[in-house]
Amino acid sequence: MRTAVSGGYAARSRDGIHELLDIETARATADTLTTLHDDLTTGAGISEPAARRAIHAAAQTPAFVGSIRTHRQALDILSNPALTVYDNAHSFLMCVYNPDRALCQRIDTSDAPRLDRCRPTCANIARTDRHADDLAQHAQSLEKQADSEAVPGPLAERLAQRAAHLRGLGDQHNRDRLILQEPTL
Ligand code: SF4
Repeated sequence: MRTAVSGGYAARSRDGIHELLDIETARATADTLTTLHDDLTTGAGISEPAARRAIHAAAQTPAFVGSIRTHRQALDILSNPALTVYDNAHSFLMCVYNPDRALCQRIDTSDAPRLDRCRPTCANIARTDRHADDLAQHAQSLEKQADSEAVPGPLAERLAQRAAHLRGLGDQHNRDRLILQEPTL
């Protein structure tokens, strides 16, 4: 939530709308970690540079699920660097945020990740099977559009190239994905 409103948030005022943003952001983080925890414990895979940090964050999920009611509780989560995980469905990945490694911070000085400016080579990226499934579905949709006779040639070519790129990301995930050895989370 606050990643999408980082311009105003950068002022660091913590009252009013900013407190609400913090609570909603913390709840979104908890939802992301809960989904990740459930996926990993049922055999889903995870890949990309931040995969192990995402697994570590998911392991702490049961401690705070359902407990975010106050601004203080929200800040406890948002200030814990081990829990700063944001889903970025638009980019088919999750951001396991570490500001020291954040490539988006090199084009913006906000204090939260700029999910709308996510860079594909960032070390904070993790990708789950869920994201890989979304990649495949989106690639299939683009391929269908590219095959349509109503689409002009140059546009069809760009759609096909984009679809091939997404397929490549999915293939890389399938090659690299880690799976928990034991259901210990
Ligand atoms: S560039 Fe890195 S830090 Fe920024 S949103 Fe993407 S994964 Fe997160």
